[in-house]
Amino acid sequence: MGVHNATHLPAMKTNPKFIFFTDFDGTITLQDSNDFMTDNIGMGGEKRKTYNVRILEEDISFRDAFQEEMDSVTKPYNECIQYLVDNISLDPHFAEFFQWSLENNVPVVVLSSGMEPIIKALLKELIGPDSEKMQVVGNFVKPKPGKSIDEEGGWDIEFRHPESGFGHDKSIELRRYSALPADARPTMFYAGDGVSDLSAARETDLLFAKKGHDLITYCARQHVPFTVFSDWSDILEKCKEIVTGKITVQDAAKEGFDAYKSGAAGLKPLEETVK
Ligand SMILES: [Mg+2]
Repeated sequence: MGVHNATHLPAMKTNPKFIFFTDFDGTITLQDSNDFMTDNIGMGGEKRKTYNVRILEEDISFRDAFQEEMDSVTKPYNECIQYLVDNISLDPHFAEFFQWSLENNVPVVVLSSGMEPIIKALLKELIGPDSEKMQVVGNFVKPKPGKSIDEEGGWDIEFRHPESGFGHDKSIELRRYSALPADARPTMFYAGDGVSDLSAARETDLLFAKKGHDLITYCARQHVPFTVFSDWSDILEKCKEIVTGKITVQDAAKEGFDAYKSGAAGLKPLEETVK
């Protein structure tokens, strides 16, 4: 990519030693907002789950499945946002983590397969005006031809990377940071829970993978170092230990893998089944 100029990277403005990249749905939020829309005002959960299986079997790309799921939601976009603001809640410890990150120069960058307007609205509702200090990188929304997004059947998802089977290939943004020269490159954390985080997992120094979710199985299979979290208080505790130099990211990843092997990650080691 050749992007080595830190001035083009918003999260590098304060010369941080650490940056926290994170998935949004199911990681910062308790429920996946897109699944919630699809299940309740779109095609329904039963049909959506058949897409999940097909994605894992590589019968359909994440991008194409997500497009069909979003096509099934025809409510005006402004009403979708309100519906989600009324129904989606954040991990109870995320706000505390975010305050700590602001006080300790650990920029938080949200990398999401969802749509930016929805994510920004939810963050603003749930953590207030400070949420604007968080960079959000996701997909977009556009009007369908001849319509406006705030009318019935009027909006369409617009992918950040339409050529990628992920729709938004999270590894692209991460590589802009991991490609920095060693003396400028911050330690990169990432938190996620699912299939859309696979492309990100390999680019970071320490992956926090949500307990009991598919991402852990993938990481173990592909030898990607990780540590397990149940909620953001686990992440906060681990980050404090690392930022203060009490443990290294390598120690944290080793602990995570040991926990996985002993079954404490909520999935049986090398279990081949998926949800
Ligand atoms: Mg997720």
